[in-house]
Amino acid sequence: MAESTILIKDAKLVFTGETKSVLIKDEIIAEIDDVISEENVDKVIDAKGMILSPGFVNTHTHLSMSLFRGLADDYDLDSWLNDYIWPIEANLNENYCYIGALLAAVELIKSGTTTFSDMYFYMEDVARAIDEAGIRGVLSYGMIDFADAEKRENEFRENISLYENCNGMSDGKIKVFFGPHSPYTASKELLERVRQEANKYNTGIHIHVGETQKEVDDLVESTGMRPFEYLESLGLLGPDVVAAHAVWLSDNEIDIIKKYDVKISHNPCSNMKLASGISPVAKLLENGICVSLGTDGASSNNNLDLLEEMKFASLLQKVDTLNPLVLPACEVLKMATINGAKALGLEDEIGSIEVGKKADLILLDTNSVNMTPDSSDLCSNVVYSANGSNVDTTICNGKILMENKKLTTLDEEEIYKKARIAIKELKEMN
Ligand SMILES: [Zn+2]
Repeated sequence: MAESTILIKDAKLVFTGETKSVLIKDEIIAEIDDVISEENVDKVIDAKGMILSPGFVNTHTHLSMSLFRGLADDYDLDSWLNDYIWPIEANLNENYCYIGALLAAVELIKSGTTTFSDMYFYMEDVARAIDEAGIRGVLSYGMIDFADAEKRENEFRENISLYENCNGMSDGKIKVFFGPHSPYTASKELLERVRQEANKYNTGIHIHVGETQKEVDDLVESTGMRPFEYLESLGLLGPDVVAAHAVWLSDNEIDIIKKYDVKISHNPCSNMKLASGISPVAKLLENGICVSLGTDGASSNNNLDLLEEMKFASLLQKVDTLNPLVLPACEVLKMATINGAKALGLEDEIGSIEVGKKADLILLDTNSVNMTPDSSDLCSNVVYSANGSNVDTTICNGKILMENKKLTTLDEEEIYKKARIAIKELKEMN
């Protein structure tokens, strides 16, 4: 097959502010230079005045929950899950999860996210949706056994068959992790076996940990241990674990996270909306811990815009520590790009603009009111001024998924229509 080439001409690189051209050959960044010849290039993108950033990496979400946007607002996690989310989730099926994932994929592409890590049900249908969309995803099946041995067997069958059917699909853009939901919904036996299976399949683990004070209190009462102490005692922790939330942490737990090089997915909007608490992110970063960013599902956020998440992450730490110097713009942008790549074990492939890496790149339009005038620090423009609507072009694995704000792989109007019908039907079943 002939090589396909794209030249991004004269873009401003977000971290350095330099104006450069970038040549993409097939899925790879082949060259970065002041001037690159247009000769024999299949496609030229004139990026004059635009900011070029690595595509964003959202390390914790539940794509199909986009159908539940605005369904249950202004509740705490316990009541949100028990009274609203779990009852409607009981009616989900393959088709609803597929439509929800397509809806989420539209939002991810439009707001510059090229990689996400998902945990949910009907994940093979999520894989089908994101294969059509063309984005990169790490999928895990949300394993919940509530200490029931038969249910536990079923959960392993689901996650293992997801691995066998989908790991490596979509030209390698889809990977599969194990997804034990949390220490309060997965039994000790499930968590112990997850480590064995993750080792056997040589893959990672995605889990919610320490999200609410109630979770910590309940676990201390039943085991005498806090969540990360408990997971350490079960042998689950390691550098291949992505722990979402990590809001309620003791100093000992921070030491444990550091010792095992556990990766954190910080979800500030969800934590604020459910009033779960404030993760001590500044302290985690001070300890050299890899903190990435996630939106959580659109039903507790209520969108998947990582640009918004970056701003909230920075502002929340500043007000929590009463120190405006913590989480400066460039550090937050790294959390949303290279740290996300590290969290998912993909740092050799994505997360930065470097020759030899996969071309997961976005262009932000600066010719709009909230981006005028440019700051001398482009990270500041991206983190504090931009929002998803400033993303002009999204490229994943060398393929253009959006250009001039128009999607190339998905029919968004058709997807909105299907999503509206899906949630109407789901509500009628309840
Ligand atoms: Zn979650």
